[in-house]
Amino acid sequence: MAKSNMNQDILKVLLSEEQLHQRIQEMGDELFEKFRDKDPMFVGVLNGCFVFMADLVRAAQLKSEVEFISVSSYKNATKSSGVVEITRDLQRDITGRDIIVVEDILDSGNTLYFLRNYLLAKGARSITVVTLLDKPSRREKPIVADLSGFEVPDEFVVGFGLDYCQQYRNMPYIGVLKPEVYSK
Ligand code: 5GP
Ligand code: MG
Ligand code: MG
Repeated sequence: MAKSNMNQDILKVLLSEEQLHQRIQEMGDELFEKFRDKDPMFVGVLNGCFVFMADLVRAAQLKSEVEFISVSSYKNATKSSGVVEITRDLQRDITGRDIIVVEDILDSGNTLYFLRNYLLAKGARSITVVTLLDKPSRREKPIVADLSGFEVPDEFVVGFGLDYCQQYRNMPYIGVLKPEVYSK
């Protein structure tokens, strides 16, 4: 593991830099084949997408646009409320566009279920959902990723864009935090 005062908070590494790099290149190749004759727009879901998005768009090497949207979902202590709100909207018209939505993790599915309908209502021609991680065991909404990097167990993961209390997003790998970090 490289130098970092974040590493001491990590219980175990789930996905190494090498595993992430290799899989994202495969995902980019797949998107290139699917969209090489189209003019897609990548729409990243902030903030979690930013590391994955940067690698994915460079791996795909498609003539394309890059856009972002921010959403927040309200959750009570026990379960996701399913209420999703847009906190920063798209800055460009998506009417008739082929949209590639880029998410860090698909968990309950509430965020992507909402976004899919939102983007279609805004006139998108097609929606392709791409997620780096998928926790299918936790799904509450009927949504399936068109392209998913890795299936992960029902554990809270951080790194590579994913945060705990807004930290750990800049860890270059994905890991599980030590229990004492939560109780601090
Ligand atoms: P969903 O709406 O599918 O339940 O979850 C969407 C968001 O919840 C993700 O984009 C992510 O921000 C957050 N989330 C879900 N599971 C995890 C996790 O294991 N770790 C982190 N850091 N965030 C998660
Ligand atoms: Mg996210
Ligand atoms: Mg978060």
